[in-house]
Parts: sequence; structure tokens; C-alpha cells
Amino acid sequence: MNKFDLAIVGAGIMGLAHAFHAAKAGLSVAVFDRNPKAQGASVRNFGMLALNAQAPGVQLSGALKSLKYWQEIAPQAGFELCQSGCMFVERAPEEMAVLAEFAQSAKMVEHGTSLLTASDLGRYCQVLREDRILGGLFSEQTWKVDQRQASRKIATWLKQKYDVSFYFSTDVQDVSLPHISTSVGSFKAGHIILCNGDEFVSLFPDAFAKSGVTSCQLQMMRTHPQPSGWRLQPFVMGGLSMSRYSAFASCASLHDLVTMQAARFKPYLDEGIHVIIAQEPDGSVTIGDSHAYENGTELARSSKIDTLILKEATEMVILADPRIAQRWLGHYAYLQNAGSIIISPEDGVTAVSQTNGQGMTHGFSIAEEVISNIMH
Ligand SMILES: Cc1cc2nc3c(=O)[nH]c(=O)nc-3n(C[C@H](O)[C@H](O)[C@H](O)COP(=O)(O)OP(=O)(O)OC[C@H]3O[C@@H](n4cnc5c(N)ncnc54)[C@H](O)[C@@H]3O)c2cc1C
Repeated sequence: MNKFDLAIVGAGIMGLAHAFHAAKAGLSVAVFDRNPKAQGASVRNFGMLALNAQAPGVQLSGALKSLKYWQEIAPQAGFELCQSGCMFVERAPEEMAVLAEFAQSAKMVEHGTSLLTASDLGRYCQVLREDRILGGLFSEQTWKVDQRQASRKIATWLKQKYDVSFYFSTDVQDVSLPHISTSVGSFKAGHIILCNGDEFVSLFPDAFAKSGVTSCQLQMMRTHPQPSGWRLQPFVMGGLSMSRYSAFASCASLHDLVTMQAARFKPYLDEGIHVIIAQEPDGSVTIGDSHAYENGTELARSSKIDTLILKEATEMVILADPRIAQRWLGHYAYLQNAGSIIISPEDGVTAVSQTNGQGMTHGFSIAEEVISNIMH
């Protein structure tokens, strides 16, 4: 029977981040995933390392710490990571007020922002709807990782560099340490970490239920690759994102923006929509998303949501080829007002869930802390 110091359930970014820190610290590590390759939230997202969305303090410093690990790993594992930046565009006076106020406070932290007039926009992004946009805020501290490649490449690299064992197509069915029962047989481990995304029914369901964690469902789309020459460069977002991201939470002017949105953007707010637009390395454009909280079971995709998202996206960006090539749903673990939860259902078992939809941004720093606590 194979025996490891540490077994990890889930080969999404949270599982891989824990495997990285544990293997680097000298532990023998096995990672189990029930799918033939990672296909959960970690490959269904925007690939945004959203430093721009973090409130100063613990949030921002955790995101910065994680970024350093992405920068260390990406060139070795061989996937793309670029400092794309992020453009918040303003189309209403309430949005202008929030961005102006945020730009003042952002000078004092590490957001690296520039407040732009309409005539400045083209220096940062040439495909914006300049006829609709009054100005914007460019934040240089936002990075784009190739999310469709990263999980697979990190797993291959961890195997080669640190001898981490990967068991794909292997469902972990029961844990009673040191024994782990899986669909391909039994294993032994000194400790087990559950990074099972928002799958809370198969292992320790009572502990997850007690923690209050639920899930959030998001709706996403991707265009065909745009013609060569069409380049977005930064992530593009609008006012609906300003009222969602905690980076803006301390702006007094946010109140007026929220009031305006309640009157004018009700269909969007009802579906939890804020629109993010990102270009992928193959030229395609990822556009999302909506948020349905605590649904428990998967809801059907909604064409009404797609229409709302596309309407808002095309008010900000001129797509050369607006045809949609892919539509999908994604899920992540959710707990209101919590960035992450770490629970211990029994001795030797740790469950780690990123609960605010920012596992790409925070995964490596959370995992570093968890592994350090386990080792000391
Ligand atoms: C649409 C969308 C957009 C997002 N955009 C961003 C973004 O731009 N930036 C950002 O920072 N975050 C973003 N997020 C959030 C981020 O993707 C998640 O926080 C992160 O991917 C969670 O990683 P995970 O490893 O916990 O989960 P997952 O990637 O879902 O992985 C969990 C894995 O566990 C496996 N598993 C579960 N149970 C078992 C079992 N019993 N046995 C074996 N295997 C099991 C599953 O097969 C799965 O592969 C987004 C999320 C979504 C859905």
C-alpha cells in the first residue's frame, strides 16, 4: 500500500498550491482528483490575479504573496503569466466619483493606479467604446494567468521537480486516517488536506454543513479568437464591479453609485452580474459573469443572463468578432463575508475552501500558511 506524509483531495489550484508548499518543505505528497484532469473552478475562471480588487492590509498582502509564487512557478512550469493590468471604465458621474476617490486613497497602498480622462484611454486599450466612456482608472497591479493551461502544467511540473504523485480519475470515497479509500484502492497518509472546491457531500458532509459554507454558480462565455491586431490587453470592468470589490468599499461616494445602480441596473443586480472582459492567449475573449448563491443544485444556463452580460460588455468594448464559441457554468465555495475557511473535521484532516471566488488570487498564500501550521 502506498504511504505518503500528506494526501491532498483535489487537483484544482488550491490542491496544487498545498502540494507545492508541502513538497517544497520536504513532505512526500500525493494528490487525488476524481476527474482525468482538473476541470473545476480553476480552469473555468478568468485567470485574474486580482490585486486591484483587494482592500489594503491582509487581503492585499496575501494577494501579493501569492503573486510571487505564480511568478516563481509560471516560467518553470511553462504557462503564460502577464501583467495585463485592469481598466475600470466610467460611464456615469457616480462611477467617476468613485474612481476619483479611489485613486486618491490608492496612492497610499500598492495598487499602482492612474486616473484617466477619455482622451487617455487609448494609450491603455484601443478597443474601448470611447463614444460611451467618460474616463477610467488603470490599475497596473493585475495579472493574467493562462487558467486553461496552468493547473495541468503545474501538476506536471510538481511531479517532475518535487516527485509529487498524482492520481487522476481517482475518487476519494472515505477517509479514516491513516487510511484513505479511493476508487482505485487504499492508500495511507499522515495527514490529509481536502481541497475539494465546492463538493461538500462525499467527505465529512456534517463538518462542512456546520461551517455554513455553500456554493455560488456563475455563468460565463468565450468568443472565437479575435482577428490578429485586435488586442484588449487589460481586464476591462465597469461600475457593477466597483460596487462588488472590497477595494472600493471604503469610498464614501460608493453610496451614490449603489443607489443609482438599484434604480437603473436592477436586472443585473437580481442576477448578481458584474461584467469582466479578458483576452486569452489564443485571442479569444472571456466574458462573464453572474452569481447565484447558495443554490445547492446546478441551475440551467439562462439566455437572459447571457443577453444582459453581452449588452453590458459591448457597451464597454468593441469586439471585432462577437460570435460566442463557448458557454459554461462554474462554481465555487461561498461563505458570506469570509475570504476562506479552514476547518478540521477530525485529527489529521484539514479542509480548505476559498470562499469569495478569488482562489487564483489567494491560493498560494493560504496554502503556505496551512502547510506551515501543519508542520509546526
Ligand atoms: C466562473 C469563475 C470565475 C472566476 N474568476 C476568478 C478569477 O479571475 N480570479 C480568481 O482569483 N478566482 C476566480 N474564481 C475563483 C477560483 O476559480 C476558485 O476560487 C478556485 O479555482 C478554487 O479552487 P479549488 O482548487 O478549491 O476548486 P476546484 O478548481 O473546483 O477543484 C476542486 C477539485 O476537487 C476534486 N474533487 C472534489 N471532491 C473529490 C473527491 N472526493 N475525490 C477526488 N477529487 C475530488 C474535483 O474533481 C476538482 O477538480 C472564479 C471562479 C469561477 C467559477
